[in-house]
Amino acid sequence: MFQLFLPLNFLGFIYREIKASMANIERMFELLDEQPAVPDSGTQTLNINRGEVRFESVGFAYQNGREILHNLSLTLSAGKTLAIVGGSGAGKSTLTKLLFRFYDVGRGRILIDGQDIRDVPQQALRSVLGIVPQDTVLFNDTLLNNLLYAKPDASEQEIQDVIRMAHLEHLVASCPDGLQTVVGERGLKLSGGEKQRIAIARMLLKRPAIMVFDEATSSLDSRTEKGIMAAIREVAAGHTAMIIAHRLSTVVDADCIAVVEQGEVVESGTHQALLAANGFYAQLWSAQQQSSVEGDQP
Ligand code: ATP
Repeated sequence: MFQLFLPLNFLGFIYREIKASMANIERMFELLDEQPAVPDSGTQTLNINRGEVRFESVGFAYQNGREILHNLSLTLSAGKTLAIVGGSGAGKSTLTKLLFRFYDVGRGRILIDGQDIRDVPQQALRSVLGIVPQDTVLFNDTLLNNLLYAKPDASEQEIQDVIRMAHLEHLVASCPDGLQTVVGERGLKLSGGEKQRIAIARMLLKRPAIMVFDEATSSLDSRTEKGIMAAIREVAAGHTAMIIAHRLSTVVDADCIAVVEQGEVVESGTHQALLAANGFYAQLWSAQQQSSVEGDQP
């Protein structure tokens, strides 16, 4: 009996550890309070060719039944950056949750290189997607392990490369034990900008075909934000990337900007084209320009 008890006890320990790390992963998506409730029954192989993502006539309501997205169509062209902008509550983050399949669409479909994401196993889907969330959660572990989490077999050279590309050298140099410094809630506390750089480094290690960046809203000062956006631009170059943007000034260079209002794409185009169209985007732009001028005043 005792012999049986020990392994069971051990299994219980393993189970709790796995459950805790799953919770951590979900917190990375800021979705702790949202139980993924989709069936993982897709069996097709996900064949990534160019990495194009299409939202086709998507309709969606959360459990409370209120429709959040109405017949929304969007294309993330392969190798290009699409910025999603729009007012608070417009449905921008909901698009990310649907792409990661924390929920399934009510109507329409989401395709990656022509394949419906419901037809492939969750694990295959998640392996081609990467996210830099607004608020990155760090494990109570060393800086190195926090990076290796994205690619456990990464070489020392790869780690050094991503540290440089995510502009983390100063942080590593200033940590008492360098990469062996324990960070997280019970270790060295890092700033919002530093945590975002770590998330960028993880993305660089994983190198997923499709990258999602959820721009931080208030946690970064504008200088840090500019630095982070420059790093994101470098990382995203040549990849299929979606940037959920709150400040329009950070995405003026995007290949395409889609304006989402009340669950629909109301306009899309380049920054210049949207300004010339003098519609929603132009209004948002002038409102944000105005508030930044006022904010700059002493
Ligand atoms: P913000 O710019 O403020 O982050 P957003 O454009 O990303 O907003 P979403 O977070 O996608 O907007 O939310 C769209 C709508 O869906 C909002 O009205 C929000 O209240 C609602 N919503 C979001 N999550 C849930 C949920 N789990 N259950 C019910 N309603 C939700």
